[in-house]
Amino acid sequence: MRNWMLVLLAALLLHPAGMRASGPDEAGRPRLVVGLVVDQMRWDYLYRYYDKFGEGGFRRLMRDGFSCENLMIDYLPTITAVGHTSIFTGTVPSIHGITGNSFTLRSTGQTVNCVGDDREHTVGSTSHSGERSPRRMMVTTVTDELRLATNFRSRVVGVAQKDRAAILPAGHTANAAYWFDSKTGRWVTSSYYMEQLPSWLEAYNRTDPARRLLAGGWNTLLPISRYTQSAADDQPYELPIGKGIRPAFPFDTAALLDREGYGVVTNTPFGNTMTVEVAKQVLEHERLGQGTETDFLTVSFSSTDALGHLLGVNAVEIEDTYLRLDRDLADFLAYLDEHVGQGQYTVFLTADHGGPHHARFLQEHGIPAGEWNAKEVVAALDSVARVRFGVDAVVQGIASYQVLLRRAKLDSLNIYAPMKEALADYLRTRPEVAYVVDLDNGASLSLVPQSIRERIVNGYHRERSGDLQVVLHPGWYDAAFGRVNHGVWCAYDSHLPLLFMGWGVRPGKTRREVHMTDIAATVAALLHIQMPSGCVGRPIEEAFAD
Ligand SMILES: [Zn+2]
Repeated sequence: MRNWMLVLLAALLLHPAGMRASGPDEAGRPRLVVGLVVDQMRWDYLYRYYDKFGEGGFRRLMRDGFSCENLMIDYLPTITAVGHTSIFTGTVPSIHGITGNSFTLRSTGQTVNCVGDDREHTVGSTSHSGERSPRRMMVTTVTDELRLATNFRSRVVGVAQKDRAAILPAGHTANAAYWFDSKTGRWVTSSYYMEQLPSWLEAYNRTDPARRLLAGGWNTLLPISRYTQSAADDQPYELPIGKGIRPAFPFDTAALLDREGYGVVTNTPFGNTMTVEVAKQVLEHERLGQGTETDFLTVSFSSTDALGHLLGVNAVEIEDTYLRLDRDLADFLAYLDEHVGQGQYTVFLTADHGGPHHARFLQEHGIPAGEWNAKEVVAALDSVARVRFGVDAVVQGIASYQVLLRRAKLDSLNIYAPMKEALADYLRTRPEVAYVVDLDNGASLSLVPQSIRERIVNGYHRERSGDLQVVLHPGWYDAAFGRVNHGVWCAYDSHLPLLFMGWGVRPGKTRREVHMTDIAATVAALLHIQMPSGCVGRPIEEAFAD
């Protein structure tokens, strides 16, 4: 008994000045960090739907947390894989190497999925959806750094409907990443992480979660007359959430699933609900936040993006999806309070990119906007090449507004440079094109405004980018298959929410411009761990409680 008291006394005397009383362990860290990413969430949605949000979701994060009101993406293109990677690595595509959801390797001409890996196999289903790994990401994540800092005692798990949104945030050293296999309706993983699904996830899969959640159909949460932030339902330019139906409430989602398969769940808010269910299962069964070290859970909500692509910003379906996400979020935060403890975890919420209004909606209201057809532009470029040089099929494709040429073919004919110049000149004659930059030639950047120039440079990776960067006028986007698409530098695609709440966070807000690359730097500083290996961001000083 006396020895025990001596130890306690010694511990009190040795207790370093300024250490947080609230910290659950001696390093002064929270029990758990939860990184939430809402796919395609624009910053203004916080305020657009504020009046209809409940108290426990977005409003709680805004009231009790710290809000960065001007978080901007500082690279191109503004798309999913790049966003998730940049949030968790604190760096940009030119350094982390994830230049797109897929990208073409210039040395071989081979196009690869950013997380595709044929060395791995699917764990949890018979499809190919698990042949994945984070190996193409060229730097560490803040989640990797936490694992390194605790000699791998911290546990890290990533959860999302999309594979890339689960895998990239969780890093190279993750204990697990789980995503939704739209072919079989099961949550799966890759042999990169394990050889067998945990029994709790097998049990969850046996509940046939997508079918269960779609069984009740999808109608608006509130009477449809209260959706005052959206145009009337069923606009002519909207795409439906499933084939052969109108884009209008109510949706018979059970019948849609029977007809089209499990992927339909991602086109409804219930995909987000399912994601919260899996996140809770992870917390409960893997006991994250219950160990001796800080654990890290990353969760990404993909349904918001799928619906944004079909409908744009101004749709009842989008408004309803955010009201339902707000409820899911409130439910998840309450779960964290109960199982980890209020004030014992740090949560942050951000987005991977934003999204534009439908171009045809903007045009109806006299606002400059338009739909670009990249396929048609490829054909036009090939025709310029045929007329000028007598060569066919020189353009491999246009991805994320970058033109990719068949370099080997053009090199063998010794016309790569003149061809590129001729095609750039042609693109500059098109009325929707603001700038065309030769990505190998820094001098061609000189007439591009500084803020766009910086984004192009940050997005350029010699082996994984295209040959020419096209910058369209604001309001224009690539409308492949009639979809609404994000990916450009403009605020609607690059201005995102960033909210921190909980352990170590000072409630408040800043309107100072911060960048997506600052998020990982801030989390690393909060946890007293090293920044990720390619980090170029800076901690957001105002967000810290001390
Ligand atoms: Zn998207």
